[in-house]
Amino acid sequence: MTVEAAIALPLFLYAMINLLSLILLFRDFSLEEGKQHQLGRELSLLAYGQETGEPDIRLVKITRAKAVVPIAAFPSAVLVNGCVMHKWIGYDLQEGAGSGNGEREELVYVTESGTAWHRDRACIYLNPSVQMMSGEQAKTARNKNGRRYRACELCGGNSAVVYVTDSGERYHSTVTCSGLKRTINCIPLSEAVSSGRHACPKCG
Ligand SMILES: [Zn+2]
Ligand SMILES: [Zn+2]
Repeated sequence: MTVEAAIALPLFLYAMINLLSLILLFRDFSLEEGKQHQLGRELSLLAYGQETGEPDIRLVKITRAKAVVPIAAFPSAVLVNGCVMHKWIGYDLQEGAGSGNGEREELVYVTESGTAWHRDRACIYLNPSVQMMSGEQAKTARNKNGRRYRACELCGGNSAVVYVTDSGERYHSTVTCSGLKRTINCIPLSEAVSSGRHACPKCG
């Protein structure tokens, strides 16, 4: 028993030390990798406008790492860290549309058939609340502007239960009708104005 323990314990410790050594080596490696990455980013920013010829920044660092416990099976190792980073080419003008001095043009919300543009995505005119009523009711009901509802040309509107909105002028037989559903687009303000839209009286 004691003989077994006398052999097993040093073996176990030896294995543990090796493992620990290896983990520490990996830790050093990933720390260095992080440093190279940061350095690569900084250099790529500094190299803005110099992408003629070599478009990339290449960094390689070779270090001889000594194991923490030299008796282990990995007495030393060569660590190679590297980083390849494309030189910065500036902002994407399509993405960040607007004037050059860092000011982005305001984006507004519109619907395909709507005649107004909205600043507020949650504007009530952009998101009309859909109400349910009976088909009979819809024929005599009036919207909030005092106008009569008519049957929708797209879905027919002839069902026992129909759907209307506060400001709409159609009643729909299905809630998924494209006449009822709205696709909201987000476009630059200048584009909204040039397409003939006016500011929303509520949020524009
Ligand atoms: Zn609005
Ligand atoms: Zn409809």
